[in-house]
Amino acid sequence: MNRRMIYLDHAASTTMRQEAIAAMQQVWADSPANPTGAHGPAQTMRTHLELAREQISRLCGVKPSAVVFTSGGTESDNWAISAGARRGRVLYSAIEHAAVVEPAIRAGGESIPVDANGVVDLIALKARLRQLSEEGVPVGVVSVMAANNETGVIQPLLQIGRMVRKLAPGALFHSDAVQAFSKVPLDIPALGLGAVSISAHKLGGPIGTGALVLGPEVELHPLLVGGGQEQGRRAGTPDPAGAAGFAAAAAILCPTDWEPIRQRRDRLEATLKSEIEGLVVHSADVDRLPTHCHVGIPGLAADIAVIACDRAGLALSSGSSCSSGAQKASGVMSAMGFSDQGALRFSLGWTTTDDDIDRALEIVTDVVSKLRKPRDRPPAPSSRVCSHSPPPHRHPEGAQRP
Ligand code: PLP
Repeated sequence: MNRRMIYLDHAASTTMRQEAIAAMQQVWADSPANPTGAHGPAQTMRTHLELAREQISRLCGVKPSAVVFTSGGTESDNWAISAGARRGRVLYSAIEHAAVVEPAIRAGGESIPVDANGVVDLIALKARLRQLSEEGVPVGVVSVMAANNETGVIQPLLQIGRMVRKLAPGALFHSDAVQAFSKVPLDIPALGLGAVSISAHKLGGPIGTGALVLGPEVELHPLLVGGGQEQGRRAGTPDPAGAAGFAAAAAILCPTDWEPIRQRRDRLEATLKSEIEGLVVHSADVDRLPTHCHVGIPGLAADIAVIACDRAGLALSSGSSCSSGAQKASGVMSAMGFSDQGALRFSLGWTTTDDDIDRALEIVTDVVSKLRKPRDRPPAPSSRVCSHSPPPHRHPEGAQRP
């Protein structure tokens, strides 16, 4: 049967833009050369690479030399955290992606709590920075993502940047903007950021290409060493086709273009709330990316629901993160004080239509009504699985679970 699949997992990876595919094909057609060579074909590859660098730098408000191409968001995050750890203590928000959390834990880092909406607790961050400063402990890096991958919640980077400059001026202020880039404005110098991780496949470019974009005057100890490429900052042959695809995709969207998608997301949420008893939309009252919708449904086995939706023609993800095929409890939900049971993430993308939303609603309401037993439904709001209780207290020295 030739059934159209509704894809609402764009936060995991989104549909490639035709412009990105065309730009990559052009590079591949031009030459097979290594861009670091001395001859004409290498020069052609270098031209593609530098054009892409320039285009991405303009979108970030930095000089082209500040854009260092990497293999994606994970490498960029790992690099920023490990370079920052050489300077001193690693602080990271409790809702960071594993690509930040894992290297931060290895470096003995400490997590900063978030509130029940998943917004970084500015008072806790300030208190900890002040305490470390009084104790004479240098802070190497403060890492807070621009927007969360599960809930889409946008973080107050401007205030955090001011705080870091005042209380830990030697620290690298890093932000994982893998989800936010191209959806919200990201002026790196204006936000006082020292390093920003971005990734091509979240915005319509190819998988396996990203960048770490450096703030003015920032230099970081390299993560990958060897051939001295990327001005000695990142060894390994750069990928001009990947960079060209990344730049072509990034150049298409500007934040205001997302308004129709936001309206579709809002309609999805409003209908889910009215159709599914007890459903809670997480972080509904704070600033979020226009693409993300994260809900908790009491009594639902979310992993089974995801499989049932897939069979019915809807691709979405459960609230727990999936790595190497294994489901792990969501660190984001527990940091916000929620259970991740019954949590589903719908993430819309640039291809999402009104019809997609209509069909997704039909499928998900049908799946939930079949999977949820009547006794699982909440008799009263107070007995919900996803209660809005405050996040658990977390000692700042404690490492966060991934
Ligand atoms: N950071 C965030 C917030 C993400 O959502 C992801 C991917 O899901 C990554 C980092 C990793 O990016 P990449 O897949 O390019 O390695």
